[in-house]
This record gives sequence, C-alpha cells and structure tokens, in this order.
Amino acid sequence: MGSFKDYFSSLGSGFLSLVKGMSVTGKEFVTPKITEKYPENRETHHIPQRFRACLELIYDKDGNHRCIACGTCERVCPNGTISLETKMVDTWDGKKKKKLVRYGYDLGSCTFCQLCVVNCPTDALTFSNDFEQAVFTRSKLVKKLNYLPDKPEPEPTPEQRAKFEAEKAAKIEAAKAAAAAKAAAAKETTSSAAPATASPAAPAIELDEKAKKALAACKGDPEKEAKVRAALEKAAALKAAKAAQNPTTEK
Ligand code: SF4
Ligand code: SF4
Repeated sequence: MGSFKDYFSSLGSGFLSLVKGMSVTGKEFVTPKITEKYPENRETHHIPQRFRACLELIYDKDGNHRCIACGTCERVCPNGTISLETKMVDTWDGKKKKKLVRYGYDLGSCTFCQLCVVNCPTDALTFSNDFEQAVFTRSKLVKKLNYLPDKPEPEPTPEQRAKFEAEKAAKIEAAKAAAAAKAAAAKETTSSAAPATASPAAPAIELDEKAKKALAACKGDPEKEAKVRAALEKAAALKAAKAAQNPTTEK
C-alpha cells in the first residue's frame, strides 16, 4: 500500500518539475534574442565605454602624452605588467628631467584592476574598449604604449626666459649679500679678539698723571696697589690696541 502511495507522489512531483522547466523554456522562447552575430556585425557591434580591454597612453592632438616617467604605475601594478625605461635629459633652464623612453605593457598578465590608471598623477593612462586583442603568440601581447616618436624638449617662451633670468640675477645678488655679511661678521670677530693678543705688549705702557695719582693714593697697601696697577695697565693696553687698529680716529 505504501509503495502505491509513493508511486503517485513521485509521479506528481515529477509532473510539477516538468511544468516548471517548461515554463522557463516557454518564457525564453518568447523573449527577444540578444545573441550577437559576431563577426558579421563588427561594424554595428556596441561595446560599453567602461569595458577595459587594453591599457593606453593618452595622446593629445599634437602627439604629446602626459607621462612624466614617475614610475607610480609600475610600482602599484600587482602583476609586474608594466615595465618602464627612462632617461635623464637637460632642460633649457639647466635642470635635469626624467623622460620616458619605453612604456612596456604585457596585456597577457594584466588583470584590468585599473590601479595604474587611478594612481597616475598626470592622468596619462586610460583603458580602451577595443576587445579584439586575440593573437597567436603571447609575445605579441607585450606592447609598447608610447608608439609615437619622441619629441625634443620645448623651447622656453620669451616670458619664461625673462622670468628665469630675473630669478637667476636675484639669486646671485642674494648670494653676494650673504657672502658680504659673512665676511663682515668674521672681521668683527677678529677685531674683538685683537686686545687679547695685544696684551703681551703691555710692558711698554706708560701710565698717565691720573693713573700715577691713583697709585700714589694706595701707597702703603701693596695688595691694593697691585690691584689698581693691574687695572690701570689693562685699561691702557686696551686703549693702545684700539689706537693701533684705528690710527686715524684714536689720536
Ligand atoms: S604613473 Fe602616469 S606619469 Fe607616472 S609613469 Fe605611469 S603613466 Fe607615467
Ligand atoms: S590594470 Fe592592474 S594589472 Fe593591469 S597594468 Fe594596470 S595595475 Fe597592472
């Protein structure tokens, strides 16, 4: 009895499953077709703009790209897909500048994460939506993105050159002023140290009348007399040294 009931139960669930499947099939049967007839529709086929197919350097209408060869994209790429070759060049204002020689990109190892694009400081990169990238050998997936010929460094405008010359002259003047101030400070230090070196000449000092009177007042007190004599001799030595340095003013 039990097996009879099970038989009809499984028959019912099988029928329900069949109806469910047929409803999906019927729904798809009446839905408009979206199958692409590629490559027959190559001319009319629409690929969304956001589709990431291949990395590109953006060139302007004059054939210039904005890459400054900073290497950020190469560093942030998690797969080592980007390899840059760079060189240093001299600019018109006497500075050094890094320049791109070769922008290597291996499409075969790119995961289209776009980290290189969003981290580029000059917005020099983008992704094309050209999806037809199939080739027969992997080596052909390694591309050079800077495909246009390299251009010479631009000449400065008259305004740029005039500004540069003015800044250069200002820097020279500032350096001269700093050197002069340094020399004056060194001279001042030397002159302030001169009395100390002049002290060995002290024995030649002659005490004037005022000094002699001061010494006479201390007569009988050798200790006081020695102190006064030392002070007077020191003052006389300083005066003599000053007179030797400025012979015209210290008469
Ligand atoms: S991050 Fe941008 S500017 Fe720097 S090397 Fe890459 S493409 Fe050039
Ligand atoms: S999209 Fe990602 S994987 Fe591809 S080159 Fe840029 S950083 Fe590397």
